[in-house]
Amino acid sequence: MARAKKMIDKIQELMYKPEKIRNMGIVAHIDHGKTTLSDNLLAGAGMISEELAGRQLYLDFDEQEQERGITINAANVSMVHNYKGEEYLINLIDTPGHVDFGGDVTRAMRAVDGAIVVVDAVEGVMPQTETVLRQALRENVKPVLFVNKVDRLIKELELSPEEMQKRLIDVINEVNKLIKAMKPERYDEWRLDVTKGSVAFGSALYKWAVSVPAMKETGIGFKEVTEYIKEGKVNELSKKSPLHTVVLDMVVRHLPNPLQAQKDRIKVIWKGDIESEEGKAMIKCDPKGPVALMITKIIADPHAGEIAVGRLFSGTIKSGMELFVVDRKAKNRIQNVGLFMGPKRVDVPEIPAGNIVAVVGLKDAVAGSTCTNKEGFIPFESIKHVSEPVVTMA
Ligand code: GDP
Repeated sequence: MARAKKMIDKIQELMYKPEKIRNMGIVAHIDHGKTTLSDNLLAGAGMISEELAGRQLYLDFDEQEQERGITINAANVSMVHNYKGEEYLINLIDTPGHVDFGGDVTRAMRAVDGAIVVVDAVEGVMPQTETVLRQALRENVKPVLFVNKVDRLIKELELSPEEMQKRLIDVINEVNKLIKAMKPERYDEWRLDVTKGSVAFGSALYKWAVSVPAMKETGIGFKEVTEYIKEGKVNELSKKSPLHTVVLDMVVRHLPNPLQAQKDRIKVIWKGDIESEEGKAMIKCDPKGPVALMITKIIADPHAGEIAVGRLFSGTIKSGMELFVVDRKAKNRIQNVGLFMGPKRVDVPEIPAGNIVAVVGLKDAVAGSTCTNKEGFIPFESIKHVSEPVVTMA
């Protein structure tokens, strides 16, 4: 309990420091390892203790979910990560993996500022990799790359370190080609660069990863990885160059915080007047501005009922506050405001802009809703009017 209390205190402190927050998603072609990566980042960051991971937590999930991983049905999971002696709050928002959920993916992308693109080293870039990357770039979400299942290149394909490197460079080049084609105006800035560390390689399943900046500290490069794996010392490898450290270091270093991101993202994701009170507040990620909350998911909780989870772009949300869903007249009174500690929701008195919030009481909200306390607020998601054929009665 003491450990959990300390973690809540840490998260509550960090949520008031937007420069220490990263809101991100993980996107991938199916089976490339998104679920395995999410779960192992969370476990590695210590957000689920052995005890919780083993028993207590799993009581909340049905068997299928256990099999598919703990994060499968969470709308958001939060982690605290220490990077160079400083703590960061990392919010991982669930992005549906399947292309059929195109709308849901876009919605989730709107709530994040950065994304880890996961690519299976054996399969390489696949059609859904392209689709999800396109969705991210369209929403002005900055990508970093994690090349997963590198263990298979060594164990199954028996590639030499040089052959392995060549294959990995091919994957990077291919993703860069897509970024260049889809987002030419940001290519110089967003181009994946191994030497800068915006790419990491590893195995989500066996919990190790390497990157150029990490190599400088751990001394573990491709040659060492090959040796460890061939000698069957994968646990040692995972201790020396842990997945969560390498990947979350990359996230902190390369993905923007909400202050940086909202400055140039708002005009891409919101079609209202940037010079309006709410426009300016969102650009500044102002906790004193009007409430601008974009709901990404509604989750059913056996105790609290329906919980709306979303990204707060401006304002501060408190219990007792009255908000309304844009295009609905009725006001909804907020009963509870919560944040995530790992996949668990914890109630707190208030949450400021730049964070992911869980709100009880927004009866009218659905995934995609814009919630605010400002009359005339333009919603985030443009409502598509399907034109009906005109039927004339003769
Ligand atoms: P998702 O569909 O992208 O969420 O993929 P999953 O995380 O469910 O992974 C798909 C399959 O790949 C599962 O059987 C995982 O155990 C396996 N897998 C994930 N990561 C790795 C890895 O690093 N190495 C190997 N060999 N298998 C992996």
